[in-house]
Amino acid sequence: MRDATTLLFDLDGFRVVRVDVHDEDDPGAPREVLVEGVQDEQGCPDCGVLSAAVHSRRVRVIKDLPHGRRALRVCWDQRRWACRERACRRRTFAETSSQVGPGQRLTGRLRAQLERAVSGSTRSAADVAREYAVSWWSVNHALVVVAASMLPRVPAGVRLLGVDETRARSVRWLLAEHGWRRSDPWMTSFVDLDPAHPGGLLGLAPGRSGSSVRGWLSLQSQAFRDGIEVVAVDPSAPFAAALRDVLPHATLAVDHWHLHRLANLMLTQVRQRVTQQVHGHRGHATNDSWAYRRLLLRGARHLSDKQWRRLRALFKADDPTGEVQAAWAGKELLRQLLDAPPATGGPLVVDPRRDPDPASRRVSAGLRPYEVRPRLGRFYDLAARADVPELERLAGTVETWWPAIEAYLRLRVTNARTEGYNRKIKQIKRVSCGFRNQQSYERRIMLNNAATAA
Ligand SMILES: [Zn+2]
Repeated sequence: MRDATTLLFDLDGFRVVRVDVHDEDDPGAPREVLVEGVQDEQGCPDCGVLSAAVHSRRVRVIKDLPHGRRALRVCWDQRRWACRERACRRRTFAETSSQVGPGQRLTGRLRAQLERAVSGSTRSAADVAREYAVSWWSVNHALVVVAASMLPRVPAGVRLLGVDETRARSVRWLLAEHGWRRSDPWMTSFVDLDPAHPGGLLGLAPGRSGSSVRGWLSLQSQAFRDGIEVVAVDPSAPFAAALRDVLPHATLAVDHWHLHRLANLMLTQVRQRVTQQVHGHRGHATNDSWAYRRLLLRGARHLSDKQWRRLRALFKADDPTGEVQAAWAGKELLRQLLDAPPATGGPLVVDPRRDPDPASRRVSAGLRPYEVRPRLGRFYDLAARADVPELERLAGTVETWWPAIEAYLRLRVTNARTEGYNRKIKQIKRVSCGFRNQQSYERRIMLNNAATAA
């Protein structure tokens, strides 16, 4: 039967010998807990023979979880056993404990708590270290140990992969040996896009080139690569080339958001160029095209009657060549193509609660080919007739990426989940005030993902 104080303190393998406060009136004075191991004998690490003979004792201060309001000082009255085996060359050995291993100063439960406090939040390691009155290195070490034990596992059965780039740090200029060097580090993130799978962030690779994608994928198992059916990517040529190379059987799908962004950019460029040509300067508040620049980017089906009138007035008064109107129509036609609701079956990823068997979640049909072709035809037609160079360029991009856009329309796989992780990655970066070590940055992100998914 253990005594009440030992039960309350509850440190595995230890009993409490004494609890003291040296100066009761001083609220800052720490409580001091003296503990000792409960085992009466331990095996020699060399010969394995059990020994109950205490050679000497030494009091060590160890760090533990905070208890109560006062700071806690935990002292371990550690024994040194004598090995009595005559054939053994070792004379003495130190008492060991599952909570405090050889060379350690922190208890196992404190290390576990440090890891949880950092991984389960977007708090910085320095912030957690301050709260528990330990060093930054202790917190980081707790993270490294957990990461090493759990991170290499990438789950099998990933069918929908998202690949996206995210800035690892803001641009900096570093003084190198031969002048200034620009540092602009990026990371590539790999995400399981199936919302039925928890902990969707699968991994991170430094850089944003084809070799980042190739490198990370080649580290995974053949079974993992074989299982991937669809990959959602930005319209990035190096990514696409690497993916076709490493995952030749997978279908590439371009996310519609990136295409909307390209279309809006095209329209803005046309507006700026036309304003410059007509007025000889950039837009002023007195020009309709500048005053209503945001209205131009708005989807036509969301416009009110009043907004329609403004738009028509803009095209009449401030667009003598008709190029802004053509660019606007091009943007709208592309939007009609990309935003058309899928014809049958709904999105590819169905509700997992309705359909719990992952094997039965098959690719469903979206927009049918005969519905897609006339919409695409109208867009190409306009681009060919309008004689607006920016619109022609956009049509060229759509043509280049058409197989992947068509795959998106059919499968409706988007990188929305990937973008969500990018937001979280930025948050971790912000609270930590940056990372000097890319590896510890990646570890932080992966641990946070694992902790918040569990
Ligand atoms: Zn021995």
